[in-house]
Amino acid sequence: MPYSQILGHDRQKQLLSKALSADRLASAYLFSGPEGVGKKLLAKAFIKNLFCVNGNSCGHCRSCRQFEEGNHPDFIFLDGTPSTIKIDDIRAVQKGLHFRPAEADHRVCLIDGAEKMTHAAQTALLKSLEEPKLHTMFILVSANAEALLPTIRSRCQNLKFNRLPVEALRGKFSQTLEEDQNHAALLAALADGSFKNSLSDKRDFYLQERPEILQDFTRLPLLESHVDAYFTLAGKLAAKKNLIPDILEVFKLFFRDTLFELQGRPESDFVNADLAGLVRHQSSKESIASTLKKLEAIRDIEDSINKNTNPQLSFEVLLMRLSDQPSSAASNRTV
Ligand SMILES: [Zn+2]
Repeated sequence: MPYSQILGHDRQKQLLSKALSADRLASAYLFSGPEGVGKKLLAKAFIKNLFCVNGNSCGHCRSCRQFEEGNHPDFIFLDGTPSTIKIDDIRAVQKGLHFRPAEADHRVCLIDGAEKMTHAAQTALLKSLEEPKLHTMFILVSANAEALLPTIRSRCQNLKFNRLPVEALRGKFSQTLEEDQNHAALLAALADGSFKNSLSDKRDFYLQERPEILQDFTRLPLLESHVDAYFTLAGKLAAKKNLIPDILEVFKLFFRDTLFELQGRPESDFVNADLAGLVRHQSSKESIASTLKKLEAIRDIEDSINKNTNPQLSFEVLLMRLSDQPSSAASNRTV
């Protein structure tokens, strides 16, 4: 895939193209930034450019074809996304790098999910970064670069990637996926700047179950006389075991929208633009302070669920805290 087809990241593309044309390439790069914004995609496009005998990812030369078919002899790929990368993996790469490149001017090792290298693996890699060989290059890709040894980070030229702007994602969705405009806008807002997020297997959850969850929640009766309703909804949510982080995300986005409404921001800023009525209804019962408290409550539950507490109990507590009526807001509005 040529640069032009990769969404966003113009600054990073420019920097790499300039370094390539001026022959000022670093021996190690670290592509860091959120999950799913196209870091690996850009790394591969860059490597293809580097290998191409015409220097432009022509797609026709032998190098381009070999790279596209996944058998370029000078390309080594280590994938840390499914499992950890061990010291033996790094040693095997280092052995391969003893030889001169077979076809291209460089041997390139791409390490995706670089933070999944064990400590020993990172220490081993550090040797290669400290004494770089001519004609070799490492590209580390990581959504959690903080987990890398500081000495590794300081040996790499760091390219930071940001989330994609919602507008860019929206255009991409309606263009390539034939999503109707409403879905495209919704997915773009939900994706939080990451293309992978909106295309994951969670897509149906966000399109279909999100409205249901929020409707159930906003219809909860007053706690004092209807505790049962809270237990029932908590049970229903806790039963969606694999989706618990997404359910919490749904509540977070809903109260974030509520906050936006209270701050007078336009509906177009809402993630739940399709549920603007619910957002307005909620904000009529809240103050900015009470909404912030509820966002805090969601964060608390996120922490406790990560510590393996009982999800049913966690959701009961969460629903009660989220339904708490702020006396200040209520009295403000009844005056
Ligand atoms: Zn080519």
